[in-house]
Amino acid sequence: MTEELNLVEIAKKHVLLLQSRKALKGRCPFHTDETTSLMIIPHTNMFKCFGCGAEGGPVEFLMRIENKSRNEIISRLAKQNFPA
Ligand SMILES: [Zn+2]
Repeated sequence: MTEELNLVEIAKKHVLLLQSRKALKGRCPFHTDETTSLMIIPHTNMFKCFGCGAEGGPVEFLMRIENKSRNEIISRLAKQNFPA
């Protein structure tokens, strides 16, 4: 289920993404970023920030953006995919 999450689609809602050679770059939402430290690599579905060291996949991105635990994110996503 979580493997199907598209990190680029999620990140686009929060960060203005600029295309660079192999990745997308943007201002990191997890620290005060004056440059574009955040890199999103579409083919691995991972992000990495060279400023604050944040990294991970779509679930980690949502955990940080929403300041929630992994379980909260996963159970919310499960509800979205399979509404009761
Ligand atoms: Zn950062």
